[in-house]
Formats: sequence, C-alpha cells, structure tokens
Amino acid sequence: MTVGADAMVAMVCDGPGRPLREERRPVPVPAQGEVLVRVLACGVCRTDLHVCDGEIPARYPVIPGHEIVGQVLALGAGVQGFALGQRVGIPWLGHACGICDYCRDGRENLCDAPLFTGATRDGGYATHTVADARFCFPLPDGIDDVHAAPLLCAGLIGWRAFRIAGPGRRIGLYGFGGAAHLLTQLAVAEGREIFAFTQPGDTRGQAFARSLGCVWAGGSDERAPHELDAAILFAPVGALVPAALKAVRKGGRVVCAGIHMSDIPAFPYADLWGEREIVSVANLTREDGIGYLGHARLGCVHSHITTFPLSEANAALAALREGRFDGAAVLVP
Ligand SMILES: [Zn+2]
Ligand SMILES: [Zn+2]
Repeated sequence: MTVGADAMVAMVCDGPGRPLREERRPVPVPAQGEVLVRVLACGVCRTDLHVCDGEIPARYPVIPGHEIVGQVLALGAGVQGFALGQRVGIPWLGHACGICDYCRDGRENLCDAPLFTGATRDGGYATHTVADARFCFPLPDGIDDVHAAPLLCAGLIGWRAFRIAGPGRRIGLYGFGGAAHLLTQLAVAEGREIFAFTQPGDTRGQAFARSLGCVWAGGSDERAPHELDAAILFAPVGALVPAALKAVRKGGRVVCAGIHMSDIPAFPYADLWGEREIVSVANLTREDGIGYLGHARLGCVHSHITTFPLSEANAALAALREGRFDGAAVLVP
C-alpha cells in the first residue's frame, strides 16, 4: 500500500460487530518513551475476533492487531535500547503500570492498569503504529518478518501455557490453530508427546497436526489412546473443559489459554477429584517474551502462514473464524 510520507493507513474497528474500515490518518508522533514503527507484518489472532465481536474489553474505535513486526522509524524522548532501523516485535501487553501489587510481584501479566495492543491501545492492522518501547522486544535474526509475526502471541501464549502445564510427557492440545501448531514443534523438540484434538471431522487439521509431529490426532469427541499428564485448551469452547478433565490422569492439569470462552457446562465432581486442576493463563510478561524469543529451540519452529494484504483484513478474520487455513494468518501492509 502506498501512502504519503506523513500519512498512514489503518484498518479500524468502530465497535462490536462492525466490519473493519480503511482509514487514512497522519502518522503518529512518538510520545515520551514510545517508538514509531513501520509495520512490516502483523499476525491475525483469535483475540482480534473477540475484539471485533465485543467479547472482551476494548476501546473503540480501535486498530486491532498485536503480533506486530515493525521497523523503528523514530524514537520518542527517553527511549533506550532501540535504534533507528532496528526490527522489533510488539506484543499483546502494551503497557503495565509498574506500581500495582501484581507488577511489583513480577506478575505484570495481571496488572490492574494495563494497556493491551490492538484492544485498549491501537495495534498493527496498519502501515504504522507507536508502542511503549519498554514493552517491545528485539527479534532474533534468521526468521523473516511474516514468519516472526505469529510468534508474538500465538507462539508466546502457547509457550506460557506449556510451562504452566508442567513437565509431564503426554500433553493434549484442544484446538489446533496458530498457537498449537507452534507449540507442538517446540514441545516435540523437547521430547514431549503431543495429542491434538480438533473439531470432530476436521481430518485436514488432524493431518496437519500429525505432519508436525503429534503422536495422535483426533476429534475432541474422541478418547486419546493414553491418559494425558496435562491438557491445554486453545479453542474458545467451554464444553471442552470437562472433556479435557476426563482425559487427564490423577494430578493432571487443564490449562485454559484463551482470553474468552463460552460457558463451561456443569460436570460431576468426580471428574475433578484426584487433585486434578483447572487453571487459566492470562496475557504475558516481558520475561516470557525475552525467554521465548531467545529460546534455544526456537530455530526448530516454523510458522505455517497464509498472508493477506492489509486491505483484506476483513477477509483474513473471516477465514480465521471459519477455520479455512492451517496455522496462522498474517497481514502485510
Ligand atoms: Zn500494574
Ligand atoms: Zn493474540
């Protein structure tokens, strides 16, 4: 997309249920502590659907997108650690207050006054964006822009969920999209056995999961051939929580990694008994980002992507909603 040097193009969500609208506006000037970046690629995450559908808190109008790979064009006053021309990643956690009990406790992912990229501050469905430099990451060389984009949420949240799932060998993944396809590769490289649960009848998704090293793939209505040590839910379907609970062994953990989920139906206490646990994973910390993007085995991970031009962001969201591609979608300005 070609725009004047002082103009940018963005895809804007005006409110829940509204399609994104293309808008031209002046390129923002970075405030103190911010970087201005030219967006090189921005991943499309299920959370963007929740923003556009009004299922999670957002500030409208908003530019969605929180898997941003950008090049630094300008530095606001006081920015340290980044140089003009440098490639950076901008994730979901766009700002944390630094003074609440959670921030002071090293749990900035639970901050009481956070800003979330592409939800409560503008994100990367645009040619340019500004970000709080302290929450941007340097990106490893050797991964190009479009393949790096999904790492910034799908990869990162999958990895945080994986660590919370614990060290067990047999891990079930419910919902095999952007996050699961990246996590599978890292987990298999660590010697774990991954069991993929897709929508019943999604044989294409199951074949994709097996191609990435899953030892088993089937529908979420099927039983895995082994009891699982833990399960991670990426699908936003509450009915999968009791299903996953039945699939894990005594002492096993069910990790809910999605930001939004339909209601969880009632289930017998006997399914939770045996010190089984249900936990959720919320957001990320900068420590997660630095650990994940510097992970020695990240070189084993290849993003399977489908690219869309920025102007076709609505088509990319529709394709994600309808499960029309394997892996992740990425917008390219
Ligand atoms: Zn805080
Ligand atoms: Zn996301």
